[in-house]
Amino acid sequence: MLSELDFSPSEAHAGFMKVLNRHLSVATIDAQGCITYANDHFCEISGYPRAELLGQHHNALSSGIHPSDFFKSMYEMALAGDVWQGDICNRAKNGLIYWLQTTIAAIWDADGILTMLVAIGTDVTAQKKKYEQLELLQVCIERTNDVIVITEAEPIDLPGPRIVYANQAFETLTGYSREEVIGKTPRILQGPESDRAPRDRIRTALSQWKSIREEILNYTKDGQKFWAELEISPIANEAGWFTHWIAVQRDITQRKANEEQALKLAFYDSLTGMANRRLLIDRLTQAIASASRTGLAGALLFVDLDFFKTINDTLGQNAGDKILKLVAQRLNSCVREGYTTARLGGDDFVIMLEDLSVDATQAALSVEELGNKISAAFMPPYQIDGKDYWISASLGATLFGPDRPLVDDLLKQAEIAMYAAKVAGRDILRFFDPRMQQAIDARVAMQDGLGLALKRREFQLHYQIQVDRAGKAVGAEGLIRWSRPGLGLVPPGQFIPLAEETGLIIPIGLWVLETACAQIKIWQQHEATRHLTLSVNVSVIQFQAPDFVELIRAVVTRHGIEPTRLMLELTESIMVKNVTETISKISELKTLGISTSLDDFGTGYSSLQYLKKLPLAQLKIDQSFVHGMLDDDREKSIVHTIVVLAQSMGMDVIAEGVETQEQYQLLLTEGCVKFQGYLFGRPQPLGQFEQNLRQG
Ligand code: C2E
Ligand code: CA
Ligand code: CA
Repeated sequence: MLSELDFSPSEAHAGFMKVLNRHLSVATIDAQGCITYANDHFCEISGYPRAELLGQHHNALSSGIHPSDFFKSMYEMALAGDVWQGDICNRAKNGLIYWLQTTIAAIWDADGILTMLVAIGTDVTAQKKKYEQLELLQVCIERTNDVIVITEAEPIDLPGPRIVYANQAFETLTGYSREEVIGKTPRILQGPESDRAPRDRIRTALSQWKSIREEILNYTKDGQKFWAELEISPIANEAGWFTHWIAVQRDITQRKANEEQALKLAFYDSLTGMANRRLLIDRLTQAIASASRTGLAGALLFVDLDFFKTINDTLGQNAGDKILKLVAQRLNSCVREGYTTARLGGDDFVIMLEDLSVDATQAALSVEELGNKISAAFMPPYQIDGKDYWISASLGATLFGPDRPLVDDLLKQAEIAMYAAKVAGRDILRFFDPRMQQAIDARVAMQDGLGLALKRREFQLHYQIQVDRAGKAVGAEGLIRWSRPGLGLVPPGQFIPLAEETGLIIPIGLWVLETACAQIKIWQQHEATRHLTLSVNVSVIQFQAPDFVELIRAVVTRHGIEPTRLMLELTESIMVKNVTETISKISELKTLGISTSLDDFGTGYSSLQYLKKLPLAQLKIDQSFVHGMLDDDREKSIVHTIVVLAQSMGMDVIAEGVETQEQYQLLLTEGCVKFQGYLFGRPQPLGQFEQNLRQG
């Protein structure tokens, strides 16, 4: 082969030696293990001059890291005629070790006597080090308590980067085996409560090849939640390409639980779980700000147990704590969601109500309603150690509106009101504001009185005349009055809303109807009054009763009156609910011969769509337009429009609240048909009304 090449064997030998000297370490040792030859490379790498090496035992180069039988087995193999191959670690003159990937062969002379061992080695120190480091790293990664997951770099979006490595800690924490997750995406750790926001931030960071740290909620294979502090970084290869992501997760579930616990301790009462003073003050500050924006009043209700100290002292603190817990449960069961229940300490509880009403009295009524609920909830006895104990509470309330009161002032006010309740005999609610207290007292008294008024025959019907364009009487509107003992005549505006709220409007409204029909019956029997119609006001509550039409028919029949003499005044609120039913009820009434008028027209909810479908007999122009039309062109044009509208739909139109001649004249010009107001007569008791009728 060589002879075919274009150089001589000696040239080839010289070239070979050159390469050998540059890249390979060559040495020979004799049968005693002493070095007999070392090439340049060998000298260089060991750091010894050749003269120092020759004749030395090769042990002089020993690094000491090989086990004692390492060289023995090497010898045995070489001497057996085999080539030995392996990595030998030597120590250079400067003390540092180096690695040679070595091939060793024995050479014998013709007589079969060993002449030398030839060792040819390549320097693999660098690779060895790298490999060792890798191995070290892998062991570390395996052993660390942090969860380490390596994924491919792409894709970031669905289905997400695939896992190529996960360490032991991953298996321990998540319950997934590595085999299971390799090739899947880390999304498998997400669960129903994992928050979107951190995941979105992670995705954004990844798309920009940035590192990111987040705290996220993950799930184990069997669905257990755990909190992880996650740090993800991109890994680039030598060429600078990002090839992988490394994600390091630390289990911070305990820390999170501690934080939550700390938060609880800071803001909640540990005994009852209610808000503590700090949280209450926090929420109250917000509620005050919100009330000043919305105008909706809120309230503080101070709840203090009656004689709790005595119970605590006689039964001991444990029993006292049990009672406080039960009290908290009862209080919580009374309040609606959104209200704050707090325990300030001891037996002092506070309930904060929000967004009650723009009207202070209305707001106070809601507080009073809650107060009643609480009193009722406190009625049943508390069972402690098999025995029953009755405990009542004194309640103090204060309202806050848009005027931005101070938090401390409000708490003080509620407490002062609570003391007033104690003074007043306990187990009741007192308001801080005496006017509020009066309003509540008055209302409670009115409600009690109203319930008895029918039985006590305290209602009266007054009559206000209605005239035509010529000023001739055509009818009257019946308006209820309540003659309250000691308080005189109470106008309907003061008690009808309460009657509506309590449902008393049903029997009261029936009384009005009966009275009106009885009157029509009498009028029918006299020539002078036979033509009069009598209008009565019907509350939407009455109208909505399923048997409303039937009830009207029954009353009309019972009194044996001409149904066309009765007119029912309804307000636009009847159109808000169930329009179909409204239409059918009014139609049925019409069939019975009873006409309907739409009272206060123009002030409420009016849809021309519906109006067209309602077989009404009359529109009643609200008095506000009548009062305003002389000074205000807009009001005047509304009056004009209503008159035209009524005409176009074939309805009668009446103006109420006519007080002056000018108003009357203008209404006449506008084409209005009927009129009612102080100009023609005030609402009067029957006797006066009939007297005026005869005179007019
Ligand atoms: P309404 O049906 O709009 O009654 C007209 C109100 O205007 C009456 O007040 C009447 O006294 C008053 N009024 C009449 N002419 C004039 C005037 O020229 N100028 C002024 N400023 N006011 C005038 P009242 O009697 O206090 O009744 C108030 C409201 O109470 C009534 O308003 C009606 O909604 C309700 N109401 C009265 N009686 C009954 C009833 O029997 N049942 C029901 N459900 N509501 C009733
Ligand atoms: Ca009316
Ligand atoms: Ca009216």
